[in-house]
Amino acid sequence: MGVSANWNTESIGETGLKLHEAYGKLTIEAGLKSSIINVPNVVGMLEGSDPDLKHEHIGIGSHLDHMGKRGDTIYYGADDDGSGSTAVLLTAEALVKSDVKPKRSIVFMCFAAEEIGLVGSRYYTENPLLPLDDMVCLLQMDMVGRNEETADEPASENVETIHLVGSKRISMDLHGLTISSNRHLGFEFEYDQESVYSRSDHANFARKGVPITFLFSGFHPDYHQPTDTIEKINFEKLTNSAKLNYLVAIQAANRPERLKKDAAGG
Ligand SMILES: [Zn+2]
Repeated sequence: MGVSANWNTESIGETGLKLHEAYGKLTIEAGLKSSIINVPNVVGMLEGSDPDLKHEHIGIGSHLDHMGKRGDTIYYGADDDGSGSTAVLLTAEALVKSDVKPKRSIVFMCFAAEEIGLVGSRYYTENPLLPLDDMVCLLQMDMVGRNEETADEPASENVETIHLVGSKRISMDLHGLTISSNRHLGFEFEYDQESVYSRSDHANFARKGVPITFLFSGFHPDYHQPTDTIEKINFEKLTNSAKLNYLVAIQAANRPERLKKDAAGG
């Protein structure tokens, strides 16, 4: 809801603010403008090979939107979330070309309108293409292409690190599978960014009880800036994120029993 904080009269027309001043009482009326927007989630599926298991599916996700163009300024979003969407496509290519075919299905999901409130993924979880009860897990990748850089930590200290967010909340089975798969990649997992657990698309699935992992390489000075551009991407980290989720997905798809849930989610 857009409400202007300045008290000049110009804002009346725009936001429908009416100011009544009478003897010290101030009444504010706010008008709400709503509009319907089409959010094109892009979803693809590699169908499982086992007739009894293929109804169960593993999701691999990212978001395909960013902040667009503001005036003449373009926000490229190379890391947020060009890196994640590229990693989803790399994982898809590897799974399709692999000699080892998944028994359970794999669903590749690039959500729209994440930046304006996880709108695309919320729409999907409210109108799923496949029953959410059959969704074994969602492996989300949002910003997997940079070395974390903060006031306390230079990027040079974070070449091998990546945050593994939310993996212990619903299924320790999924967490354990991610840890064991990482033996082949050698990421240094960090667990100090649970604060972003609700800030990307997996949150809508977790709310519905779907086990999730969220790979996030961390914040940096170009976050939500026009300077989030491709020449700064660590392509090895991006590719390793795709490789890690390839390993997790193929094992989750082919293990005899489905990944167990420990908690109801949320
Ligand atoms: Zn993002």
